[in-house]
Amino acid sequence: MKRCIMHVDMDAFFASVEQADKPQLRGKPIIVGGIGTRGVVCTASYEARKYGVHSAMSGVKAHQLCPEGIFLPVRHARYREISSVIFSIFAEFSPKVEPLSIDEAFLDITGMEMLYSTPQEYAVKLKKRIFTQTGVHASIGIAPNKFLAKLASDLRKPDGLVIVKEEQKKEFLAELPISKLWGVGAKTAQRLQMAGYFKIGDIAAADRAVLRCLLGTKNAIHLWQMANGIDDRKVECDRDLKSVGNEETYEEDIQGQEIVQEKFLALAETVGWRLREKGLKAKTISIKVRTDKFITYTRSCTLPEGVNFDKVLYESAINLFRALAFSGKIRLLGLTGSNFSIIEEQSLFCGDGKQEKLYKTIDGIKKRFGMQSITKAQLLKKNRDKGK
Ligand SMILES: [Mg+2]
Repeated sequence: MKRCIMHVDMDAFFASVEQADKPQLRGKPIIVGGIGTRGVVCTASYEARKYGVHSAMSGVKAHQLCPEGIFLPVRHARYREISSVIFSIFAEFSPKVEPLSIDEAFLDITGMEMLYSTPQEYAVKLKKRIFTQTGVHASIGIAPNKFLAKLASDLRKPDGLVIVKEEQKKEFLAELPISKLWGVGAKTAQRLQMAGYFKIGDIAAADRAVLRCLLGTKNAIHLWQMANGIDDRKVECDRDLKSVGNEETYEEDIQGQEIVQEKFLALAETVGWRLREKGLKAKTISIKVRTDKFITYTRSCTLPEGVNFDKVLYESAINLFRALAFSGKIRLLGLTGSNFSIIEEQSLFCGDGKQEKLYKTIDGIKKRFGMQSITKAQLLKKNRDKGK
């Protein structure tokens, strides 16, 4: 059957959420992140991008390029909240949704023609729904496969909609630069350009033996297939998800048992919530610790049963951290759950009834009032102290 894949990506997501929340920020150059001496830009609004500001740029540089830019702190909890609204809209539009990040997903709409007259009409409907409910614009690409759909969604940002039909794919790809090919980094691009390949069309028409010499057999096949618009990867739903994790780089290096505990508690809350949201339980818990010297340690343990309660995730993380016996300065901490056990919908919250009830209540409140509405007493105390 001919496949129909949608790639949906929010435009300047964090900045758009800020602009949707505060109408006085609309039309202004908004820079989310980049505050402080080590700050890095998370997202720049389209108004700020005109000055050359982009994500992953240092805040200092962004400030030089765009002195009138409005720098805002990153409000992850708020973005997650909007993201969960968006993903629940996705779920209404397709039973097969593969999340790629907080604001981006593939939707497989193959064989769903009874729901729309044309894929275009369906995409317009989806864009409208997202905008009405969140105030954020999305760009959509529709194509017979994931690679083309992702390329297409990126082509007319912001608020774009690009459809590539099977019979148009060669023509669509031909004039695009090779850097648009998935997996082609700066080094490979340079090597290909030296050999005279500049556009995707050049690769599509290339002698495969020459490509093999340049890139090795595996890469050559991959590239040639992409250049010809061939990509058989399936849209993998949550059920095929490999891990759920969260990590945070700290503005200032942290040190000491107490603060590490506090940080792991916050990470466990996020990971636990996300696991429960997705109906998953993780058997393997991993932590990541990056020191101020950029040395990264990862440690993991496998539990007899899958878990998704914050408390168990937190305790596992702390045990792993203690076993690591590192007492120096820390730049980043991460917590991940993987190796999922399959759970039936009814037994999503297994374990004793009391705990189950507690987490159901907590999640209910979070859903209604947002991630930050309820948190562990220990974290609340910390936040209050900070506020003083
Ligand atoms: Mg995006």
